[in-house]
Amino acid sequence: MQVMRYFDYAASTPLDPRVAEAMAAAAAKPGNPSSIHAFGRALREDVDRARASVARLLGVGPGAVTFTSGATEANALAVMGAWRAAARAHPGKKLTIVAGGLEHASVAGSLAALAADEGADVVLVGADKDGAASPADVAAAMTPETVLVSVMWANNVLGSIQPVREIGRLVAEERMRRGAGGLPVAFHSDAVQAVRTEAVLPSEAGVDLLTVSAHKMYGPKGVGALVRTSGSALRPLYAGGGQEDGLRSGTENAAGIAGFGRAAGILADEREADAAHAAALRASFLAELAERAPRMEVVAGAHSVPGIIFLRHPGVDGDLLALTLDSAGFAVSAGSACDSGKRKGSRVLAAVLDERRAAHGGIRVSFGRSTGASDISELAAALGAAAK
Ligand code: PMP
Repeated sequence: MQVMRYFDYAASTPLDPRVAEAMAAAAAKPGNPSSIHAFGRALREDVDRARASVARLLGVGPGAVTFTSGATEANALAVMGAWRAAARAHPGKKLTIVAGGLEHASVAGSLAALAADEGADVVLVGADKDGAASPADVAAAMTPETVLVSVMWANNVLGSIQPVREIGRLVAEERMRRGAGGLPVAFHSDAVQAVRTEAVLPSEAGVDLLTVSAHKMYGPKGVGALVRTSGSALRPLYAGGGQEDGLRSGTENAAGIAGFGRAAGILADEREADAAHAAALRASFLAELAERAPRMEVVAGAHSVPGIIFLRHPGVDGDLLALTLDSAGFAVSAGSACDSGKRKGSRVLAAVLDERRAAHGGIRVSFGRSTGASDISELAAALGAAAK
């Protein structure tokens, strides 16, 4: 295979070699973290150390962290778990959920399933041309029967940052209005794409439930966490051995969790440098692009994470552009890899572009810690050649 340059960090980040070491050490240990013998205790220590590290990164106590198989499961646990706990505590009451219109399929799909199968009344709020939900729309959609609000921290297709703090404040105000003994209302935010470069502190932002995924922060695939800052009631998705405080049964993925913990520790030390690096790369990429491919447009890039840029060209289809770049040795995404099967990212593009523009699609370029200035220059040059 020719040398490929990797510009798909939003789909999955490269594994940091320091993380691989931590994983290998945990994977080499026999036993089950729930066993009381020395082997079990050694693995339990690995899991607990990782829990403390993920907690420290996010400014919460270790008891707030529930490990899952990734963000898909964490999102399902948050959305379905919070809904089912509320529905069970208030049988016969018509309860509602308010959610962003650009949520990842794991949130959007869980909401659709709750609406179809369990009587949830789900209200989706739209997005402006910058790919952000408006707090006023969220406020207007909330009713005294709303038990969950779910709005992601940064969008996975566009990189657009959502007004999480403002929404957190609205939810806190609604909770105050209801007073003690009122219906509960939880605010969930999927921070998978934000955590690489933003200061994600859920308690400060009024977020009750926060989703993160290890493989979007230089850790392994197949492990993530749901962080619960204020003890929101949740029903587990399924029953079993009662691991993770009864919220997520199943023998812990000790090697994956150890890697996640190491990745969180590294990110706590390096996030600010990573963010500055990504911002510098973004600025030089956009400057070069303006010269080499002046017809390329950034979609909804006004307020976004530095490492994600969605580009479109008026004359060249996004899919074709992604394939042309792939043959030239550059791995970018045509929209979002998470919407595979359909036109990728189409739901999100349709929310911020008119129909004709949305139909042409575009490419998502995402980069980070290991991306060099020369990689970025070469990508700009390749784009110039592919789409003047
Ligand atoms: N949420 C967002 C915003 C994502 O980008 C992704 C990854 N595509 C997920 C959730 C799902 O994460 P995981 O792969 O860990 O299930």
